[in-house]
Amino acid sequence: MKRILSTVAFLTLLAAAAWQQAASQPSLVRELAPGVFYREAERDKRIIANTGWVIFRDYALVIDASFPWGARAILPDIRKTTAKPVRFVFNTHDHGDHAFGSAEFVVAGAAVICSRECAEESLRKNPAGWARSADLRHEKLEHPQLSFQDRLVLDDGERRVELIRMGPGHTRGDAVAWLPRERILFTGDLCVNAPGDNVADADANPDNWVRALDAMADWPVVHLVPGHGGLGDATTLRGQRAYLAARIDGVRAGLARGASAEDMARSLDFSRHVPFGRDRARNEVSVKAIYARFAGK
Ligand SMILES: [Zn+2]
Repeated sequence: MKRILSTVAFLTLLAAAAWQQAASQPSLVRELAPGVFYREAERDKRIIANTGWVIFRDYALVIDASFPWGARAILPDIRKTTAKPVRFVFNTHDHGDHAFGSAEFVVAGAAVICSRECAEESLRKNPAGWARSADLRHEKLEHPQLSFQDRLVLDDGERRVELIRMGPGHTRGDAVAWLPRERILFTGDLCVNAPGDNVADADANPDNWVRALDAMADWPVVHLVPGHGGLGDATTLRGQRAYLAARIDGVRAGLARGASAEDMARSLDFSRHVPFGRDRARNEVSVKAIYARFAGK
């Protein structure tokens, strides 16, 4: 009897330890409002970008497909929150860390949506990038299947999500997902909450990107899900805007006095823009990219 009791005590301790461990590992998924989910990136698993999903009356909409291995990690997390089918996956732009997992959602029954320009960029640019990656050799590239010009609204009377093209900015086709009732904004890479946004895409448009951030800063945003980094709010848009404008202004001033791209990359300091400007190497890359665009090189 004593032996049985001590075995029970031991098993209870084990269960308690397991529970404590589970409790100390915070979930990657957070419900921002009833039926609106955000899943943070897992850099150690090369799932770089944030993802979201929204539950409508009859189906789920996914926001950003991630890489194929990301999509395969995200789908089971979606299944834990709803039994409804994933009918649409909306990609904020064509970059691989946001869009290359689209085929996984198509297999699950979804159609791939993005702006018309994003679809055009996917067809024009992604086959070459895909072919260069050994990681993608056994994966399938799925281009967008449904595109829109300025805005596409999904509204079933209970839930409303507006897909709105804001680009060209980070890319030509950038679009965001806006939930006006819940005041939740999924920005893709138009806004990040981490060091160093990427203005190196050949189709990036820094000046219009500032205008896009200004426009969104006027929306009553409560939760902002950035393309990368932790959850933000309206202040994240303003911080991103200030960091971007500082680089544009710095490069324009440098060009006016005949400074070289190297000079500017070395001398311009953006460390006060936290967290955006904290990575010196990324700042240098983006200054050179903006220089190349403005100098027509
Ligand atoms: Zn991107």
